[in-house]
Amino acid sequence: MAELESFRSDLRDWLDANAPASLRGAQSSELEGNWGGRKASYANPDTKVWLDVMAERGFTAPEWPTEYGGGGLSKAEAKALREELRAMQLPAPLIGFGLTMIGPTLLQFGNEEQKREHLPKIVRGEIRWCQGYSEPGAGSDLASLQTRAVRDGDHFVINGQKIWTSYADRADWMFLLVRTDTEGKKQEGITFILMDMDQPGVEVKPILLISGSSPFCETFITDVRVPAENVVSEVNNGWTVAKALLQHERTMIAEAFGSSPRAAKAQSFADWAAEYVGREGGRLADSTLRDRLAQNEMDARALALTTQRARDAAKAGHAPGPESSMFKIYGTELNQRRQELRLSVAGPQALGWEGPGFSPDELTLTREWLRSRGNTIEGGTSEVQLNIIAKRVLGLPD
Ligand SMILES: Cc1cc2nc3c(=O)[nH]c(=O)nc-3n(C[C@H](O)[C@H](O)[C@H](O)COP(=O)(O)OP(=O)(O)OC[C@H]3O[C@@H](n4cnc5c(N)ncnc54)[C@H](O)[C@@H]3O)c2cc1C
Repeated sequence: MAELESFRSDLRDWLDANAPASLRGAQSSELEGNWGGRKASYANPDTKVWLDVMAERGFTAPEWPTEYGGGGLSKAEAKALREELRAMQLPAPLIGFGLTMIGPTLLQFGNEEQKREHLPKIVRGEIRWCQGYSEPGAGSDLASLQTRAVRDGDHFVINGQKIWTSYADRADWMFLLVRTDTEGKKQEGITFILMDMDQPGVEVKPILLISGSSPFCETFITDVRVPAENVVSEVNNGWTVAKALLQHERTMIAEAFGSSPRAAKAQSFADWAAEYVGREGGRLADSTLRDRLAQNEMDARALALTTQRARDAAKAGHAPGPESSMFKIYGTELNQRRQELRLSVAGPQALGWEGPGFSPDELTLTREWLRSRGNTIEGGTSEVQLNIIAKRVLGLPD
C-alpha cells in the first residue's frame, strides 16, 4: 500500500513536470482522442509531445511488458495512472484499435517476432490499425466470410472485400480474417493475418453514415501478397484468435459508450440539462427528467465499476470472457437511453442539422444521437450477444 502511494506521488510529480499545459482540460475516451499512425496530423503540436513523452515511459500501454515497449505496471499502478490522469484532467496520450484490440491479442497469440515487431510501434503510436472482419455476406454470420488467401511460396495472395471497416482510410495496417480452407466446418478454414495497407491492390472507399460522418469504409483487396509470417497463431486457427479479439472489442465498446457520459464533457450532465429546463430550489426543475437523469448516471457508474472489477479479475494476458457480451449490450443500450434523454432535455434544439439557430454543441448532439443507433450493431449485434450469453454464460442448450 505504502509502495503504491509512493508510486502515485512520484507519478503526480512526473505528470506535473511533463504534461503540456495546453492539454489540461482536454478530454478523451476509447474512441475520441489521438489515434496516432503514419497519417496523423496534429492541430496542437503538444498532442504529439504528450504522446512521445508518455510512450517513452511505456505509459500509452501501461500494463504491457517493458520488453515490448509497455510500462510494465501492475494492475494497481496502471489504475493509479488512469486516476491521476483523470484528476489532472489530462487526455489519454493515445487511443486506437492497436492498444485495445490487436495489441492484447498479439500478447496472447502472437509469436515472439510478431510481438517485437508490432507492439513497440503501437506503444509509440507509429502505426494505426483497422479491423477487417465483416464482409457483404458475413456480418453476424462472420464464419461465412469469403475473402480468400492462397499460399504462394512464403506468401499468401489475398483477394476479397471487407465492409464497415472503421477508419480504414486512416489506418496503416489491417488485422483481417481470410478463408484458407473451403472444406469442412466453415470456422475451421479461417486464418487471422496482418496486412500492411500501403501497397497496390488495397483500395479503400469511405461510406457516409446517417450521422453525416464517414468513419467506416469498404476495403477491396486484389492480389495482395502478404508474408506467411504475418499469420497469427496457426493457419486455419483464426476463429479462436478472432473470438478472443472480439471479447476485447466488446469490453472496449462497453467502456467507450457506457461508462463515460458523453454529454458531460466540460460540465456535469445535470448542469448541462439545467441550461434547458432550469432549476427549482437548486434542483432540476423537471422531476421526471431528474429521475431519468439520476438513473442514467447511476447505471453508468455501476457499469464502470463492474467492468473495472472484471478487468481486475481477468488473468494477465488473457481476453475477458464471454461476459464481455453482457457489458457490450448494457453499455450500448445505456448510451442509446442517454442520447434519447439528451433529446428530451434539449427538445427541438436537439434536432438541428446545420445553419444558425443551433449551437455547435446542439448540432453535435443530433449527430451523436444518430451515431448511437449503430452502437447495438457494431462489434456484433445485441441479438448475437444474447445468443452468446445464453450459450456461453448461462449454458443453455442450442
Ligand atoms: C458503427 C459500426 C462500426 C463497425 N466497424 C467495423 C469494423 O471496423 N470492422 C468490421 O469488420 N466490421 C465493423 N462493423 C460491422 C459490424 O460488425 C456488423 O455490422 C455486425 O456484425 C452485424 O452484421 P451485419 O451488418 O451484416 O448484419 P446482419 O448479420 O445481416 O444482421 C441483420 C439483423 O439480423 C439479426 N441476426 C442475424 N443473425 C442472427 C441470429 N443468429 N440470431 C438472432 N438475430 C440475428 C441481427 O441481430 C440484425 O438485427 C461495424 C458496424 C457499425 C455499425
